[in-house]
Amino acid sequence: MPQSCGSTTSSWAYSAPTTRGLDQREWSVFECSGCSHQYMNPQPSWEELQFYYNNSYDPYDPVHGSQNEDDRMIELAKRTGVFRHIPVPMGKRLLDVGCGAGWFLRISKKLGASSKAWSRANTPPDSHGNRACVYFTGRWSHTFEQAPGATQFDIITANHVVEHVPEPVETLRAIKRLLAPGGFAWIAVPNASYPICGALKGLWHITDLPYHLMQFTPLSMAEAGRGNDFDITVVLLPVDFSSLCCAKNA
Ligand SMILES: [Zn+2]
Repeated sequence: MPQSCGSTTSSWAYSAPTTRGLDQREWSVFECSGCSHQYMNPQPSWEELQFYYNNSYDPYDPVHGSQNEDDRMIELAKRTGVFRHIPVPMGKRLLDVGCGAGWFLRISKKLGASSKAWSRANTPPDSHGNRACVYFTGRWSHTFEQAPGATQFDIITANHVVEHVPEPVETLRAIKRLLAPGGFAWIAVPNASYPICGALKGLWHITDLPYHLMQFTPLSMAEAGRGNDFDITVVLLPVDFSSLCCAKNA
């Protein structure tokens, strides 16, 4: 991770075009023979990917992720006690990894969380000129150096993010390091072992090449955690074809 499972062999799985049709490029995906993890090979560089992460990339929209007006989402979270799969984070130190334009943070703050964010790049400002509160930027391997030793969070979320990063095992390691004792992480990734995904070999919209450098299966996500001594419980959400992974700081 590739290859955090210990396997040293992988083979070509399929080639498929840019999923969103922005260009005519074709990308190759390989599969680990040990844990079925799939990954783009060769992996595009961040310079190559800049073209795709432009201002019209939808997670940079300030309402991306929202199903409703902010006030309605807050009311719903207070009533159900749950907000985007986690208990309402009132009074918690929360880090959102891959924050997009910061919708999740904005609501979490209004629910009483003390929130920070990580983003690979500075996200574009919204129509009011506001940016998400970005605490860390750049690659996770650099985050180690940016974060003061005592920095810890009670909850770390990464909602459809880890499949975008070139170093998923190191990302999980950084998440674990930043978790406070007793803290937990919610990590959601698309599930490449979903039958439609396997049958369409890169043509399923959720494959999303070249945004998704990694195509996790429940097994390969568990292996990525094991490489970090990170206890990951995988929960499948058939509604949006995701694997939701609850990672505990053991
Ligand atoms: Zn593997």
